[in-house]
Amino acid sequence: SVVVFGSLNVDSTSYVDRFPLPGETLASTGFATALGGKGTNQAVAAHRSGAAVRLVARVGADASGDFALAELARHGLDVASIAAVPDAPTGVAQITVDASGENTIVITAGANAALTPELVVERHDDIAAADLVLTQGEVPAPTIERLAAACARFGTRFVLNLAPPIDVSRGALAECDPLVVNEHEARSVGIAPEGAGSADDWWGAAEAAVGRVARSVVVTLGAEGAVGAAPGVSVACAAPEVDAVDTTGAGDGFTGTLAAFLAGGAELDEAVVAAVAAGGLAVQRRGTTDSYASRDEILQAMED
Ligand code: ADP
Repeated sequence: SVVVFGSLNVDSTSYVDRFPLPGETLASTGFATALGGKGTNQAVAAHRSGAAVRLVARVGADASGDFALAELARHGLDVASIAAVPDAPTGVAQITVDASGENTIVITAGANAALTPELVVERHDDIAAADLVLTQGEVPAPTIERLAAACARFGTRFVLNLAPPIDVSRGALAECDPLVVNEHEARSVGIAPEGAGSADDWWGAAEAAVGRVARSVVVTLGAEGAVGAAPGVSVACAAPEVDAVDTTGAGDGFTGTLAAFLAGGAELDEAVVAAVAAGGLAVQRRGTTDSYASRDEILQAMED
């Protein structure tokens, strides 16, 4: 099973012709409310990919929290490990998207701040029983570090998606199997390609980071696909050429699928191939959690 320690937000998106100036009030051309937060997105993707998933998350005692729990239940996720905290709002991302597709985002962590190192200790039994623990840069760094230590102690595989890039101890990074990063996040931890940064250059950078930065490393390259390396394993997987209509949440879909396949016993190279297939499917559909493919669709795409 996969235990996700993850952020949960409700995304409120206003569509506008242009961004408002300071002090200005504008009418939107449309509005949408959707489940978000990287941890939540990745938990949904892992569940869609066939894993038994436990999402450890925190919401506020408010209508947004109720909405989030109802959405997770609609996706079929176990919500038993999501508690409401009394003194903070459910995490929120206030997003505006202009006519050209550019966005601005303001995030309020709210109840996500309750993902404390103490909560990791409370969850030791779950961590010990899991095949894999997955977390992200939206979780406080001391909590990530405690998770890494708990996984090392219990022999549970630890996967960190360092998005957004935050300061995490070298010791915690060293436990990651794999560390999952995009190009920008890779550079933040000293993983950088030689040369111009072609997919081949990044492949070499991932190989060179094995044992130096993390136990294993996966770098996502957008429309170029992804590369990965572990001791004795090395993989470069080109993305399928598809009509991308919405790349929001593609990275989270990739990571959730990667974690699900690893938890199911796949080697890193097979898991990266599955994740690239899942990412290619997700970008062809609008939305974030609603854009994630099922296990059957992913297996089918891996054969194509
Ligand atoms: P992030 O959004 O976190 O920076 P990426 O842009 O690297 O992540 O995308 C994550 C994964 O999603 C990629 O590795 C790839 O598999 C898939 N993906 C993203 N954009 C496209 C695209 N235009 N076509 C096909 N696959 C894509």
